[in-house]
Amino acid sequence: MAEMKNAPINVNGRTYRWMDRPLVVVCVDGCEPDYITQAMQAGVAPYLRELCEKGTSLLGDAVVPSFTNPNNLSIVTGTPPAVHGICGNYFYDRDADKEVMMNDPQYLRAGTIIAKFSQAGAKVAVVTAKDKLRTLLGHQVKDGICFSAEKANDTSKAKNGIDDALGFVGLPLPSVYSAHLSEFVFAAGVKLLETRKPDLIYLSTTDYVQHKDAPGTPGANEFYKMMDGYLKKLDQLGATVALTADHGMNAKTDAKGDPNVIYLQDTLDQWLGKDVARVILPITDPYVVHHGALGSFATAYLPAGAKIGEIVARIAALPGIEVVYDRASGCRRFELPEDRMGDIIIVSERLTVLGTSRERHDLSGLNVPLRSHGGISEQTVPLLFNRRANGIDRSRRLRNFDVFDIALNHLQ
Ligand code: ZN
Ligand code: ZN
Repeated sequence: MAEMKNAPINVNGRTYRWMDRPLVVVCVDGCEPDYITQAMQAGVAPYLRELCEKGTSLLGDAVVPSFTNPNNLSIVTGTPPAVHGICGNYFYDRDADKEVMMNDPQYLRAGTIIAKFSQAGAKVAVVTAKDKLRTLLGHQVKDGICFSAEKANDTSKAKNGIDDALGFVGLPLPSVYSAHLSEFVFAAGVKLLETRKPDLIYLSTTDYVQHKDAPGTPGANEFYKMMDGYLKKLDQLGATVALTADHGMNAKTDAKGDPNVIYLQDTLDQWLGKDVARVILPITDPYVVHHGALGSFATAYLPAGAKIGEIVARIAALPGIEVVYDRASGCRRFELPEDRMGDIIIVSERLTVLGTSRERHDLSGLNVPLRSHGGISEQTVPLLFNRRANGIDRSRRLRNFDVFDIALNHLQ
């Protein structure tokens, strides 16, 4: 490491050295490692190939539920959801008796590495694809830049640390359902590094492409080719590039291409009576067209006096289920906050997703076979760095939320 500009920073019990050159951490939404392998194989990702040869290529485990918000918050806090509190995109607030989106910083229980560095004097910038993550990721950031591609036409110095982000990036405003939304994020990262020279940039894309296109297909390779070009530019501008993902992605269909769905609310209604149990799908968010709110993780609230052990065993016996836990065991295994989970936690297998009631899922927007995530089967993600790492204990279980630790503490 070159000389340190500042003393190491302590965040949530972990220590991070000051960056010796600009650090760009990229969370590629839904980036199953095979997307990168196949893009390199097809010859469309020459920079990533070079990075894997000259830098560091590792695999790590994402957080289960393997959804966007819990994992992005784990990455920026360096902690599991049991610590930071964000265990889904959506949850049932038992105290308020309401189902609510979890994208408000009031639900965040830990500070972020980005905010801590900004408070210590680092220049930081955060760019997300969808606006739903912006306020969480920008929480307590001091004098930094934070905006989303989705709302790049509506930024101000006061709110986002930058006026007219759209004009600044110089691309048209992308549709929220397009590959351009992620491209805008990468383009913004390059523009920021060229002009504002932040010490730390966090970029978070969207998995629109990954929900539609399997690894190695033309649509996927086109996306990774685009990404490859921007990563190369970030590298050429002198940045440390660190890449990970919030979760992987798998087909959730039978051989014909029809989704394999277990409608848990319907099942529990049959067993216990209509609406006696409440099934919550933490994948739920306002942008469900590309996955119909179907993922491989669910939690259910059961009535007082319910025989939890019996229900756990009965659900576990359904074809397509991977594991079912009571709250305490599930929260222990997946490091989740007990006060924000239901009485039971259900994870389906790789090819199966969980729904509430058949009539509550609009699958008409699915014009290609369903691909989704949420389960243990989407837990493995890449950890890539454009510099060699040293001093990583090989017996340690690496997590996507170790990306800042490796990038700041372990690169040569
Ligand atoms: Zn995601
Ligand atoms: Zn997704």
